[in-house]
This record gives sequence, C-alpha cells and structure tokens, in this order.
Amino acid sequence: MKLQKPKGTQDILPRESAKWQYVEEFARKTFGNYNYQEIRTPIFEHYEVISRSVGDTTDIVSKEMYDFYDKGDRHITLRPEGTAPVVRSYVENKLFAPEVQKPVKLYYMGPMFRYERPQAGRLRQFHQIGVECFGSSNPATDVETIAMAAQFFKEIGIQDIRLHLNTLGSSASRAAYRKALIDYLTPLKETLSKDSQRRLEENPLRVLDSKEKEDKVAVANAPSILDYLDEESQAHFDAVRGMLEALKIDYVIDTNMVRGLDYYNHTIFEFITEVSGSELTICAGGRYDGLVEYFGGPATPGFGFGMGIERLLLVLEMQEVELPLAEELDVYIAVLGQEVNGKALELVQALRNQGFKAERDYLGRKLKAQFKSADQFQAKIIITLGESEVEQGQVTVKNNQTREELTVSLEQVGTNFTDIVDQLEC
Ligand code: ATP
Ligand code: MG
Repeated sequence: MKLQKPKGTQDILPRESAKWQYVEEFARKTFGNYNYQEIRTPIFEHYEVISRSVGDTTDIVSKEMYDFYDKGDRHITLRPEGTAPVVRSYVENKLFAPEVQKPVKLYYMGPMFRYERPQAGRLRQFHQIGVECFGSSNPATDVETIAMAAQFFKEIGIQDIRLHLNTLGSSASRAAYRKALIDYLTPLKETLSKDSQRRLEENPLRVLDSKEKEDKVAVANAPSILDYLDEESQAHFDAVRGMLEALKIDYVIDTNMVRGLDYYNHTIFEFITEVSGSELTICAGGRYDGLVEYFGGPATPGFGFGMGIERLLLVLEMQEVELPLAEELDVYIAVLGQEVNGKALELVQALRNQGFKAERDYLGRKLKAQFKSADQFQAKIIITLGESEVEQGQVTVKNNQTREELTVSLEQVGTNFTDIVDQLEC
C-alpha cells in the first residue's frame, strides 16, 4: 500500500498556507472592488457539463479528465476548469432572470483536476482563482476584467508580466479563417507533430497553440486571424485596444494565441511571465458569448479568466516578492511549574477572549526553551507566570523587542490588556 500522496498533488503546509490565504484574500479584496461576488460550485460535475463545452477534441477533455462512473452509474468528472461549471450553475439557478442585476459578476477559487505530466507549475490537482461576468457585450467589460487582473498582479508585487491579446472574432470570421489556415497547413502536414496532424483535421486553430517545436516552425508564417475579421469583430477588437491604451495597460498582439478551450470568441488574452528562461502563463481568459445559450439559457454574453494559484506563488517566489504575512504572536506566556498550569490556561484564554493572538507553554520546559519558542513565534510580548506571581497576583509583562517591562496585576491582564500594550508601545 502506498501511504504517499498521489502523483501531481501537494500538501500545503502551514508556512505555505499562510501565503495561500494572503493571495486568496488579496483576490477577494481586489475583485470585491469591481463588484464581484463569490460562487462555489461542486468539485465534480456530470461529464457532459465539461466535455462538449470545453470541447471534445481539446487536450483537457480528450486526455486530461479525471472521469469515472459512480455507484449509480453516472458518468462523473472532477472539474478541470471553472467556467463550464459556473455557466452550468448560472443557467440552472436562473441567474439570467430579470430581477437579478446585470451584469452578474462572479468569482471562484478552488481545486481543479487534470491528468497531466507533473512538472514545475503543472500539477494534477491545482488551484484556480477565476472570474466570470455575464450579460455585457460591451468591450468595456473585456477591458475592465483584464484591468482587474493587471491590477491584481501589479499590487501583489509581480514584475515583468506581459499581457498577450488576440481575438477569435465572430463565428463567421472564425470559419473564414479556419479555411485559410487549413489551406496553409495542409501542404505542411507531414512536418507537424502527430497531435497537430490530428488537430488539423479536428480543430486546425489548435495547431497554433501547440508547444511542439516543429509545430511552432510550421505556424510561424501562418495567416493571421486579424485579416479575416468581419466588421463587427474588427470594431469590438479596436474598441478593446483603444480602451486598454486609454487605461495605459500595455499589451502585445499575439495572433498565434488561440487558447486550449473551444468556447471562446472575440477577445482572448493571457498574462505571461518568465520563469527560469521559459514562458509561463499565469492567467488566461476571454469572451464566450455562446456558452450560456449552449447550456440552455437565453443568449447571454460572457467574459472571464482563470489564474493558477500554484503558478502565481511560483512566480512570487522566483521574483523574491515578500508577502506581508501577519504571522507574529501578540503574547507568549512562559509557564514556571506544574502548579500554575491551570492559572496559565485561564490567563491565555482571558487574553484570547480580549482578541489577542496568544500562546503558552504546555510542556513544562526550562525557561530558556520557552523564551526560544516565544522568539520563534515572533511574540511581541512575554508574560512569565510562576507560583510567586500567582500568590502576589502580579506579573511582569515584557516587550520582547525593547525589553521594557511593566509589573501589573493579573486582574488587569485578564480584563484590560490593551492599556498595557499601549504603555509598552507594541
Ligand atoms: P497550459 O497551456 O499551461 O497547459 P492551459 O491553457 O491548459 O495552460 P487554462 O485552462 O487556461 O490553462 O487554465 C488557466 C490557468 O490555470 C493557467 O494559466 C495556469 O496558470 C493554470 N493551470 C492550468 N493547468 C494547470 C496545471 N496542470 N497545474 C497548475 N496550474 C495549471
Ligand atoms: Mg493545459
């Protein structure tokens, strides 16, 4: 029996989980300012919710799904991404109803599952923070959503992150482009990777997205979707570009970026950064105007993105960004002798009840070892409690930085510790 975690998964231990909480809180705050609210959907879905919407021929569906039949013989999959489940929920819960304010702005965070070859920034259980906005086809929605991601990255401290922008246009534009791409790629078919030879038949745009060297060579001179946009698609793209420029958000146009999911149209984008010399996409998204209708709802435009938390943390670490994690303890109680064990418990509880982050010794250790613990917990204040303190009803309270001490009554510590903290200036 293997008593180890499955391949491609991670245990997130305390020091690390503090960073996760910080990142998650940061996202909640940023997205909240844009009037987004949280949605939580199940971690597993009916297979069909994902398969056709994401695309039967995509890598996600054809190779990476964690799917199984449950005891009731239902075909279930662990969710590989967040958009399809949120759209399913939007339709199922009738959030399209007129009484629900539009646009409906939702964010989510949680685990996703893909059967991939694990490597740096690529896991089998990974986590995404994502947003979906329903009900606005206004290009300002595309731009504010991209701006929100840009603001998040900037304020959390990530440097050298590039926004790659493209459009897939309307379905008519895409059909015309598809034809041109097939004409271009067919003579090169033999030079393509096996996967891309198949993609050429099934979904030629996906060849542009391939990470294989030979495919990258083949598509280097491929026709550009930008030459096949109809009037409406061109106008939408121009508006997006204009508004990005007005907000001074830098971007590069990347016509070979098509995204690995089938539901996109018009604007698509990725935020890409470099890690040890190779490019890493942290965040990706775009417009998906047909998806709500596909799930049986009324025609409703949609726009969203997903970002990978593990990749975000990887980049923060590589760039040596110090997250301001509030890990220090307010008070540590050093306990001298078994006799005062109960009193120490009462005291530490009284401090916690006043809202202080407090810890004590439980192990009856030597004072020196206890002070070492206090330092490791970065305790701002140390109180030493022994038999004589209890007898006299007084304790010494020490500012662990300045070493300044105050002798105060146990009564005051238990009821009004704030004043003591103020006097010790910590
Ligand atoms: P890639 O091209 O790197 O495989 P993708 O196009 O499959 O990415 P999306 O489906 O757009 O990725 O997911 C959005 C984000 O989720 C990615 O930019 C990345 O940050 C993260 N992500 C995707 N797959 C994984 C994974 N297996 N492990 C960790 N993070 C992932
Ligand atoms: Mg992928």
